[in-house]
Amino acid sequence: MATVAEKGSISIHTENIFPIIKKFLYSDHEIFLRELVSNAVDATQKLKKLAALGEFNGDLGDLKIEISFDKKAKTITVSDKGLGMTGEEIKKYINQIAFSGATEFVEKFKDKGDAKDIIGKFGLGFYSAFMVAGKVEVISKSFKEGTEGARWECDGSTEFELSPDEKTTRGTDVILHINEDSEEFLDEFRLKGILEKYCKFLPVEIKFGTKDDSVEDGVDKDNKPKYKTVTSDRIINNTSPIWAKAPKDLKDEDYLAFYKELYPFTEDPLFWIHLNVDYPFNLTGVLYFPKIKNDFEMQRNKIQLYSRQVFITDEVKDVVPDFLMLLHGVLDSPDIPLNVSRSYLQSDANVKKISAHITKKVADKLVDMFIKDRAEFEKKWDDISVFVKYGIISDEKFSEKAKEFALLKNTDKKYFTLTEYADKVKANQTDKDKNVVYLYTSDIGKQDAFIQIAKNRAYDVLVLDGVLDSHYINHLEQKLEKTQLRRVDSDTIDKLIAKEETVASVLSKEEEEKVKGVFEKAINNKAMTLAVESLSPEELPVTITMSEWMRRMKDMARTGGGGGMNFMGSMPDSYNVSINGNHALIQRILKTEGEEEKTKLAKQVYDLALLSQNMLTGADLTSFIKRSVELVG
Ligand code: ADP
Repeated sequence: MATVAEKGSISIHTENIFPIIKKFLYSDHEIFLRELVSNAVDATQKLKKLAALGEFNGDLGDLKIEISFDKKAKTITVSDKGLGMTGEEIKKYINQIAFSGATEFVEKFKDKGDAKDIIGKFGLGFYSAFMVAGKVEVISKSFKEGTEGARWECDGSTEFELSPDEKTTRGTDVILHINEDSEEFLDEFRLKGILEKYCKFLPVEIKFGTKDDSVEDGVDKDNKPKYKTVTSDRIINNTSPIWAKAPKDLKDEDYLAFYKELYPFTEDPLFWIHLNVDYPFNLTGVLYFPKIKNDFEMQRNKIQLYSRQVFITDEVKDVVPDFLMLLHGVLDSPDIPLNVSRSYLQSDANVKKISAHITKKVADKLVDMFIKDRAEFEKKWDDISVFVKYGIISDEKFSEKAKEFALLKNTDKKYFTLTEYADKVKANQTDKDKNVVYLYTSDIGKQDAFIQIAKNRAYDVLVLDGVLDSHYINHLEQKLEKTQLRRVDSDTIDKLIAKEETVASVLSKEEEEKVKGVFEKAINNKAMTLAVESLSPEELPVTITMSEWMRRMKDMARTGGGGGMNFMGSMPDSYNVSINGNHALIQRILKTEGEEEKTKLAKQVYDLALLSQNMLTGADLTSFIKRSVELVG
């Protein structure tokens, strides 16, 4: 075996590229481990491939990758039993490829100025070892018969040393001599944490070994504690996660178990989609539909992005359309580079295609579920409606497909597609201007009085009480022809759906003015706009409403929409008080003797209206109770 060490200089143009790279990758030093373990996995997979092709006929043996660290020697070692490299190959692959990637990075950096944008386009790969190590050794032996082992050493400068090595087993050991700044990595929990984050689903078994020589083992003859070395080894990864398997080989339990593996303390998902695309890009993954609670902002960033089973990020903002960020699960695409930066993802054509594809798959799945088992779909609707509505509002293509399965639910808990619903209410709920009016409630409990009034007319009432419904209502009105949505408590029933026929007033104009005067005195509140109307006698004597328009503006201002209408949010509430001139009680007030008595009755009727809408509180409520006791007594 030759014993001469070769010294050489790596042929790159830029001296000291390392400090520059180090500076810009500062926040992400931990990725060195991901890069080295990925290389070890690649080397192992390549050997397996060669064996499958008959180009390697030896014994594959145990192919586990081993990661260990030595606190005293301050080293971290990544060892694989993959295809290995000869000295010549080290020169070629490490000196040229690894260093040229880094050089290219710096060259580009010099021209462009903003390194953050450029980083994403270069896998710094092997070179990232120098982010944490002052010196790196590569000891390798190729699978090729008759080749000898080689040892390469470099301190991150352009100087390297290459010598023969006595290594007899196939594969590569990369030994990092950790620098002072990076000693945090010489820690079991830190390393285990990094491995669990990036390497949890790598396709080759990874053993993380810790040697602990601080365990006391009795005392020596001088009564000083003796220490023994305890070694613990465990496989830290699941080499065949379900997204890498064929859907036909999987049962529901497998999907549910994997979900629990990803998100240990969460409720079971509602259903899932297994993605498996190989043209025009590669994409696999499983997306789960969680039960979405109202605080859905909390649920974002649950999708993990992988590239060939190597974890990249869980910030999938640009890969997945916004409304799909509510989903959970895993996406894996080799077409997304490891070192992704935000700006890279935004501009990448593949990423855009992936996003469009996912949207389509999700819509297809929902159509499929709806067609196959509508009853089952309806059961899930309340849980998925937020997500579907979000998609409909924000994504034109999704919205188009959603026409097939988007449902409306009414107060009888019956579900309708948009077409079904239009057919259902058209006859009875078309107003005199030929507009179909959909009535809805945003709170079944609070708006019950109004719901009952609508039902007395055989009108249907939809339940639209979700977080996104104020936006969804606007969207529906834009999409549906000659259709308006009005909340049941936004006007008196005759005005909500105005028909040709009107109810005649039993009061003369003069009497109406009188009634109005009495109520104005009793109510005495500028926020209330009074009107005496001729409603049917069986309607309530007094109804308090806030117009649909006014309330929507306020809702929009509150949820941040409504462009430029933000001043609405700070405007005081204003309501319409409609007094039913045809109601017997109003006529009785008119006939009552004495101003004080009149006002008292009017106030009582008005308070009842407030009470029915939870608007009577504090001192007003107390005086109402007192007055009621008097009236009853
Ligand atoms: P990349 O992996 O993106 O090609 P790297 O800088 O990580 O870039 O590595 C450069 C090259 O060095 C690899 O392409 C591979 O040929 C070789 N290499 C690195 N690590 C190993 C290893 N553990 N076993 C065999 N070859 C390796």
